[in-house]
Amino acid sequence: MITIDGSYGEGGGQILRTSLALSLVTGKPFSISNIRAGRKKPGLMRQHLTAVNAAAEIGQAAIEGNIIGSQAFTFEPEMIKPGNFHFAIGSAGSCTLVFQTILPALLIAGEPSEIILEGGTHNPFAPPFDFLEKAFLPVINRMGPKVAAVLEKPGFYPAGGGRFRVSIGPAGLNGIDLLERGNIINQTARASVANLPVNIANRELKVIREKLEWGRERLKAVEVENSQGPGNILTVEIESDNITELFTGFGEKGISAEKVAKQTVKSVQEYLAFNVPVGRYLADQLLVPMALAGGGKFRTLSPTKHTQTNVEIIKRFLDVEIAMNAYDQNQWEIEIWNG
Ligand code: AMP
Repeated sequence: MITIDGSYGEGGGQILRTSLALSLVTGKPFSISNIRAGRKKPGLMRQHLTAVNAAAEIGQAAIEGNIIGSQAFTFEPEMIKPGNFHFAIGSAGSCTLVFQTILPALLIAGEPSEIILEGGTHNPFAPPFDFLEKAFLPVINRMGPKVAAVLEKPGFYPAGGGRFRVSIGPAGLNGIDLLERGNIINQTARASVANLPVNIANRELKVIREKLEWGRERLKAVEVENSQGPGNILTVEIESDNITELFTGFGEKGISAEKVAKQTVKSVQEYLAFNVPVGRYLADQLLVPMALAGGGKFRTLSPTKHTQTNVEIIKRFLDVEIAMNAYDQNQWEIEIWNG
């Protein structure tokens, strides 16, 4: 049995999600301890528990320790069972992170799957639904499978109440190289508010207009109508020849719309300046699918702790080599190949 120390490296939920994903795919059982040891509320929160239980259902796994707050559990999968699934987090916990836990197994399963997820769809510190749809899934689809996601109801943190549906047409995963961004085809910003004054969105877009020097035709303010709670999200989409990246700012009580927008602008400017195709978040999220494909490489910004930690967890389950080489401080190439 593989033993994982949940406090290793970044020490967050990603360690357990990657372990679950790769345990399902390889059939290798694992035990994990010190789950989210360094976080304010350690152990399994509702989002993590839903991910554990969802993985157990899909992999018909035996588990011990799957209760709220648990800092250790063991997971022994039997066989991947694709099909129709409905997972509700029961809080505003991130549905996209639960989805990314079970996706790798269903990508290479023998039959298609349909999944409905309920909870948070737009959470800070997690990929918002838009990122999944515009940035992450298009790369997955280029690797062979056919995955389509539809947002049925947005769920902003902290109220949640969101829902999306995904259909997965599995296929063998092909390696992919993402080395050049190519020319930029389209750049747009969208500021959405739910149950909040539209003025917030307009102020965010004003910052985008001024700092990125974009014309009004690239900017859109959206009043979301079917949200349970209040919420505000700013997304900036950079569509290039070879990839689409999405940068997000989350509105937060006590933080001005201008500040939210300025932080987002900073990450967009960094991405544009260093001319890499893959941004920081996409980098850590592409590692598992690329490792399962047995190969691939991409250029990105300096690796985050999430990326470095994910590399180490992947190597515990799969016989792959992963090299991270710097061209300079801000341009890196990450390469994965079969060991
Ligand atoms: P953890 O902190 O361990 O729960 O992992 C958080 C995950 O969410 C990582 O895979 C990040 O790449 C991803 N993530 C966080 N913020 C964003 C964002 N704004 N856009 C896309 N992905 C994100």
